[in-house]
Amino acid sequence: MMKKKERIREVACSQFCPYYKPDRNEELACRGFVVVQQLIDGDTSIALEGPAQPAMHPGDMTGALRDRLCSGCPFYDGDCDFILTGGSAPPCGGFTLLLHLLGAGSITINDVTKLTDQEQQKER
Ligand code: SF4
Repeated sequence: MMKKKERIREVACSQFCPYYKPDRNEELACRGFVVVQQLIDGDTSIALEGPAQPAMHPGDMTGALRDRLCSGCPFYDGDCDFILTGGSAPPCGGFTLLLHLLGAGSITINDVTKLTDQEQQKER
């Protein structure tokens, strides 16, 4: 059975992420990947397959997700085209997947906030 981490890499990174390079085994995971992984490891049950119909336009959540997710990302300062272009370049796969899950109503922005707050506390 495919391990969870590999499965997330496959779904979030290889399918959704324009920056993913399969030949590079990156030690430094972007924040989007870490939060998706924590959502799956934690109590939040999300289905990676067969997402529901979007409950709202995902674009509505882009700003809220960026505020919570990206500022703690190792790529935020100078390495993420999405941030550098002010949003005209696409975000990473983890971000896209989270946005999709938010739009589908599978998770709420509070789920993301909870996880990113926990991460920040750990770093302190
Ligand atoms: S969109 Fe960029 S800054 Fe935000 S989590 Fe992804 S890689 Fe990091």
